[in-house]
Amino acid sequence: VVPVITIDGPTASGKGTIAHRVAQQLGWHTLDSGALYRLTALAVQQQGVDAFDELAVAQVALRLDVGFQGEQVLLSGQDVAALIRQESVGNLASKVAAYAPLRQALLERQRAFRVAPGLVADGRDMGTVVFPDAPLKVFLVADVQARAERRCKQLKEKGFSANLTGLLEDMRARDERDRNRANAPLVAAHDAKTVDSSCLSIDETVKQVLDLWSE
Ligand code: C5P
Repeated sequence: VVPVITIDGPTASGKGTIAHRVAQQLGWHTLDSGALYRLTALAVQQQGVDAFDELAVAQVALRLDVGFQGEQVLLSGQDVAALIRQESVGNLASKVAAYAPLRQALLERQRAFRVAPGLVADGRDMGTVVFPDAPLKVFLVADVQARAERRCKQLKEKGFSANLTGLLEDMRARDERDRNRANAPLVAAHDAKTVDSSCLSIDETVKQVLDLWSE
């Protein structure tokens, strides 16, 4: 079987960056599952679909024409990598991510990323639901202040305006929603290893994950 390392954790814990670096080191593929939820949210917005209609949102996900090429995230052939990072899209993604039909619709699409020589998958339920047999499951956490500061820096680097106080509030609200939703609440898999990156650099965090893998 093709090996998978899952990296789950709250928003802006650095999952994406760490997943990419670890995959680079191992020569493996990556799955940014959050991007699929964000792409669904963006397509819902663009198509004017009723975001409260769970089945209609799931239909959008089933029909989604997506591609990942390097830094590019393609939606129907258009690069929307920057667009899906916007807070408005992230907020809608976090709302529709609570819909069971949507999560079901994205399940097989996510599992299809598991191809040789290996996959590093990041998200909320990679270790609990999508790849429960993964040989290494990491639960990556960081305190909310550190995460808000990182997200603020990231947004500014990409040319978006960002306000730390607002981001902190949004992040707390999103944490609440991710933790307490009935479908796929954010919890560590029982066999996950927790890594706290609050006081670690990217390199140090990557090393911890690689050390866990070679243990
Ligand atoms: O990780 P990211 O912030 O890009 O994810 C966007 C939203 O998608 C999150 O708020 C989360 O609720 C949802 N999500 C999810 N399951 C995943 C990945 C993301 O519910 N595996």
